[in-house]
Amino acid sequence: MAGENCIFCKVVTGEIPAAKVYEDERAVAFRDINPQAPTHALVIPRAHVASLNEAGEADEALLGHLLLVAARVAREEGHAEGGYRTVINTGAGAGQSVFHVHVHVLGGRALTWPPG
Ligand code: AMP
Repeated sequence: MAGENCIFCKVVTGEIPAAKVYEDERAVAFRDINPQAPTHALVIPRAHVASLNEAGEADEALLGHLLLVAARVAREEGHAEGGYRTVINTGAGAGQSVFHVHVHVLGGRALTWPPG
């Protein structure tokens, strides 16, 4: 569901507004519209990759970059010491609702384990 039907592709192009906290040539990070913690950001690639299931060898560096951007956002939000959680839901059964791969960055409150 790339391009015109993908809401996160529209965030990348600016067609859908988002509260961006970071962007570079490969990734965009913005605040989740329905935050589950004081900090709840999403890190996405500019290029459409539906989920980890669709990622391949060619995406290896990009996926690593998304994690480094997630850490950068968490640091900038002040969670380097207190801790934060990064989550990638893959597939509807795991709670993925937007099929453009994204890393959730959650911080600013106590987080329990295991997640629901
Ligand atoms: P997931 O359920 O793992 O696919 O996560 C999708 C996330 O995207 C959810 O936490 C939604 O609240 C969030 N979301 C959906 N649409 C938008 C949007 N337009 N701007 C920001 N976050 C969004």
